[in-house]
Amino acid sequence: MPVDQGYDEDDDKGESNEGADRRFGDFDCPECAANNPYDDKFGNGDEVRCYYCGGEFLATVTDSGRLKLRLL
Ligand SMILES: [Zn+2]
Repeated sequence: MPVDQGYDEDDDKGESNEGADRRFGDFDCPECAANNPYDDKFGNGDEVRCYYCGGEFLATVTDSGRLKLRLL
């Protein structure tokens, strides 16, 4: 009986496929460029505050897993 060799498993490693569900452990402040580590990870729809300038931001994560911060 011939074995079907046409099936190739698509095992694409390297890129994160977490998308909009991705959570972040730190962020770079858009206002003062300081790096803020976050012990409690944050993700899409969470509000974060910069420890340096006090700015508050709404975190948005795109479908491709990119973090965007909007000043509140
Ligand atoms: Zn800041």
